[in-house]
Amino acid sequence: MENCVFCKIINGEIKSNIVYQDEDFVVFTDLNPKAKLHYLAVPRKHFATLAEMNETDSTMLGRILAKIPTLSQKLGLQNGYRLIINQKGETGNDAGQEVMHLHIHILAGERLEM
Ligand code: 5GP
Ligand code: ZN
Repeated sequence: MENCVFCKIINGEIKSNIVYQDEDFVVFTDLNPKAKLHYLAVPRKHFATLAEMNETDSTMLGRILAKIPTLSQKLGLQNGYRLIINQKGETGNDAGQEVMHLHIHILAGERLEM
């Protein structure tokens, strides 16, 4: 998708610190970390929100979610972590989704308050 920062990171047009990738998704460190460890797990396929996913996409998202625990040692997640998806809604953006390419925040490395 043109003008999508995460598509540009995935295709190498924009530099990032990629820590894991496979055929489904890429994991890189967030530019503006909100915790000691802050990664973004980003599907290679561009879609803006959960609302745009089809059946194949949900199977792929399931694989991504199942893969994250296996990356625990590599990413330093042994002490637990928090996954967040900020989702823009139909009539507003209360969660503050900034990048319109679905992504899962992985926050870890310290005690996280709600
Ligand atoms: P959102 O608010 O959409 O859920 O989160 C977008 C996240 O992407 C933010 O945490 C922001 O710091 C991160 N981000 C935005 N642009 C870039 C970039 O060019 N590189 C990296 N590594 N992270 C980015
Ligand atoms: Zn994209």
